[in-house]
Amino acid sequence: MSNRFDDKVVIITGAGSGLGQASALQIAKEGGRLTLVDLNQEGLEETKNRILEEVPEADILLVTADVSKEENVKNYVEQTVQQYGRIDGFFNNAGIEGKQNLTENYGSEEFDKVVSINLNGVFYGMKYVLAVMKKQGSGSVVNTASVGGIRGVGNQSGYAATKHGVVGLTRNSGIEYGQYGISIKAIAPGAIMTPMVEGSLKQMDPDNWEEVGKQFVEPNPMKRFGKPEEVGYLVAFLLSDQANFINAAVIPIDGGQSYKY
Ligand code: NAD
Repeated sequence: MSNRFDDKVVIITGAGSGLGQASALQIAKEGGRLTLVDLNQEGLEETKNRILEEVPEADILLVTADVSKEENVKNYVEQTVQQYGRIDGFFNNAGIEGKQNLTENYGSEEFDKVVSINLNGVFYGMKYVLAVMKKQGSGSVVNTASVGGIRGVGNQSGYAATKHGVVGLTRNSGIEYGQYGISIKAIAPGAIMTPMVEGSLKQMDPDNWEEVGKQFVEPNPMKRFGKPEEVGYLVAFLLSDQANFINAAVIPIDGGQSYKY
């Protein structure tokens, strides 16, 4: 087992479930000290317990926070610096799908809600974390975009706008901060089987969502959903020193679906 995160401090948002939880587990296995952030306290406890089962000596700080509130974001960054004295990696990942609907029926309140979490939350995170990393002269950030941030999916006005926005923030800040030894990248996952995707399939057909799921992955070149741990491996690599020269890039992890005509 390689220990790419020995002596490294990593913040993960949305760590109470899905991709955040899987990435936290992988980075803890490789020696990382973690700040795990989520709105959902129970989810955070579950992630911590899962990690401690496999890595009993893991160093974990839990912070309950709503990433759409700037003060909450400032607080999780301050608590991390207080506890560990530095930030080496940041998985800026918390997000929601929002209700699926045609643009005309999408609803302005729903749009604002999705923007406040998926876009404002990611911006606030970068704002406070990058200030710390710039002083250190090192660090890596991975923002979670989506295939919905590089392609049109439909029925997802808020999600599409915010995930395209995350791609824009990544490219912009990557260009700004490369000179300080900091790399900033985004991942663009396709359908990975997490509670979010289960919820999405249930929006399509609550009684028959597993069958809907099978049809959903039929056009995928690999004809399956991705697994959270597959994203965890990618995130761990991208946050490690091995990926320092990958900057301002958007990396799909989708079985090839976004390249298909
Ligand atoms: P998930 O629902 O399993 O986990 C998301 C976590 O974010 C939850 O624990 C939730 O409590 C937390 N969260 C939600 N709103 C928050 C807020 N305001 N403040 C703090 N935490 C909050 O979903 P997931 O599939 O793991 O998704 C993680 C990220 O990956 C999201 O940004 C999502 O858009 C993105 N993504 C997921 C997929 C997929 O197929 N699963 C595909 C593309 C992109």
